[in-house]
Amino acid sequence: MQVISELSQLLFPTRCYGCNAIGISICSNCRREWHPHYYLTHIQGLRVNSAVLYSATASKIILAAKERGLKGADELIIEAIIHVLSRANFDKYNVRLVPIPSSVVNERRRGRSFIPNICNEISVRTSIPVIPALTIIRKVKDQSTLSAKARANNMRGAFGIAENIYPRGELILIDDVVTTGATVSEAARALNSHGFTVLGSVTACVAQPLR
Ligand SMILES: [Zn+2]
Repeated sequence: MQVISELSQLLFPTRCYGCNAIGISICSNCRREWHPHYYLTHIQGLRVNSAVLYSATASKIILAAKERGLKGADELIIEAIIHVLSRANFDKYNVRLVPIPSSVVNERRRGRSFIPNICNEISVRTSIPVIPALTIIRKVKDQSTLSAKARANNMRGAFGIAENIYPRGELILIDDVVTTGATVSEAARALNSHGFTVLGSVTACVAQPLR
């Protein structure tokens, strides 16, 4: 087995998700930037709990998971979110995870539902149930180049409630990164207006200051 793994390393050398250096999936330099801590941010009355400050390195790790489907990068995000869930002291028996969904176009391109997949894996490891309560009900633009105001407009009214999902428990919104807070606040607004109770949000990364 050793020989096979060494051979595959030669053919497909592992590169750091953060800086592309040949070696291991996250090098010690990038590990310093992607080292789960605990950050609490308040966005329009919503408590957002995060593990890692958003940086160029963090952005590359997220893209490696999201756009390239690399399992090791998924693992870093899962580990960061679980770290925050344990630090945030939620009532484990009453909370439910609600994934922030991507648009159908993005899901099709990636061949999977990114955050819902991550949530399911977290649920397996923590026994916290997942409620896929949110759906995207209209076209939204890619947010990466939009200003905070444009993001808020882009997301307004974008979420609907999935069929056959009814309010129960206290909900924690799960996402990879919070940059302006437009997405999580709109998701919380949609759920609250349908009688759900949103306790807060947990994200792997947080941009500071929020843009
Ligand atoms: Zn690196």
